[in-house]
Amino acid sequence: MAASDLALKAGLDALPLLPANRAPLAPEFPWPAGHGAAMFLSFDVDAESAWTAKDPARYGELVTMSFGGYEARVGTPKLLEMLRQLGLKATFFITGWSVEAHPAMCEAILRDGHEIGHHGFHHLMPQPGDPMLAEEVDRGLEVLKRRLGVVPKGYRAPSGEFCEALRVLLKQRGLLYTSSFRDDVRPYRHLLADGTPGLVELPVTASYDDWLLGLSQRYSRHTIQPREAVLSMWKDELDEIRDWGAMVTTVLHPQCSGRPMRLRLLREFLQYAQGCGDVWIATGEQIAAHFTDCERKAG
Ligand SMILES: [Zn+2]
Repeated sequence: MAASDLALKAGLDALPLLPANRAPLAPEFPWPAGHGAAMFLSFDVDAESAWTAKDPARYGELVTMSFGGYEARVGTPKLLEMLRQLGLKATFFITGWSVEAHPAMCEAILRDGHEIGHHGFHHLMPQPGDPMLAEEVDRGLEVLKRRLGVVPKGYRAPSGEFCEALRVLLKQRGLLYTSSFRDDVRPYRHLLADGTPGLVELPVTASYDDWLLGLSQRYSRHTIQPREAVLSMWKDELDEIRDWGAMVTTVLHPQCSGRPMRLRLLREFLQYAQGCGDVWIATGEQIAAHFTDCERKAG
């Protein structure tokens, strides 16, 4: 056997024969009165940091940067206007770098009464053993407090990765919930490796990640999906979740969903959800607070 095969075999043989995420199953708590399902309406504000995280030299590539820059110049203001018109509040997970570079955009989000969550500082994907893990969390917390006066309750992992050290760190730093995992359709409580409870998880719904539905730029592996394809998928997902009495979580980016055609279809989808009459469209903070309240009552 070749050395690389031997190393692979040793690694596989060392794997625990247990689920990687050992959190207990999600409890089936009822949604607040009058609601049969929930939608966690959330946006990830990455701006240029989405493009520089893997290669800071890209900062000099001004057209690549302009995809992120659209977020502050056009995308976020237009989304805020739409949310005002619909009377909806959302959660915006913002990277610390974006707060420093685009303070006026972030102040506008705050002024409209939306929740602001933590999304790392440089949008580094949190990976096991990463020496920058704590710095990403602490620098993000510091800038949210200094620039916006915000102590975030929620965290979404940049590029959607997680590890045990991060689970522990976020609990130590006083965060209440994360919205990063893809393994459920209801909120649940994380279980740390030491057996103590971790944060509340508000699992994300991959079909509501607009990044995967096409971005008009050179690095995208996806073509832009037309309105009909996206709307029918989003409605089907929501309708089935309503039958299940569960929740969906959007993962929308102003550099995607702030584009005119996309904003138009998002508006139509949100109006559809509002028209259902039974969907609780809420911020992460509201859903996590409802979950902990039910948890307490269940004793
Ligand atoms: Zn992001």
